[in-house]
Amino acid sequence: MIPEPLEDLIRTLAKVPGLGRRSAQRAALYLLTHQEHLGKLQADLQTVQLKTKTCSVCSNIAMEDPCHICTDPKRDDSTLCVVEEIADLWAIERSGAFSGRYHVLGGLLSAIDGIGPDDIGIPTLLKRVTDGNFAEVIIALSAGVDGQTTAHLLSQKLQPLGIKVTALAKGLPMGAEIDYMDEGTLNFALQGRKSF
Ligand SMILES: [Zn+2]
Repeated sequence: MIPEPLEDLIRTLAKVPGLGRRSAQRAALYLLTHQEHLGKLQADLQTVQLKTKTCSVCSNIAMEDPCHICTDPKRDDSTLCVVEEIADLWAIERSGAFSGRYHVLGGLLSAIDGIGPDDIGIPTLLKRVTDGNFAEVIIALSAGVDGQTTAHLLSQKLQPLGIKVTALAKGLPMGAEIDYMDEGTLNFALQGRKSF
């Protein structure tokens, strides 16, 4: 029923994280019925492929390699922030609260998916820390099981190098109502309390 080329497009789109078959179908039909968007999408994909590079130092995506964050002389060389994905790096940059360097793992350890330390560039990170002058590594990974497993392994590997290893505070989100919080979050918030 679906023409073969359109079916191919739907299958390709469905591989995009968060899309799935139904959304891929909607996106494909929308693009086909809005030719001006299709043309722009074609051009954007080509440009992004031609003009962006993966930074060989931190794995960020940028116009140059090394990226502008790795080469910025105004940034602090003593702190390194480890994140899972490039989008996490962007989020921390938007906060304006961090001025050190980054390392993007590109994934998390996962026993179920068979993802081990070598798959997410942990050896590269350890080499970078060993060769560099970092005094502190901030582990900014998600609070889920895989994030915490990865954080635990990283701290085990980094601490013997004489590096201070820290993690993001866990607790109440801004504007949160205490009686809506789950026990785990409240527990972390209490443990991580600070003096005024
Ligand atoms: Zn970089």
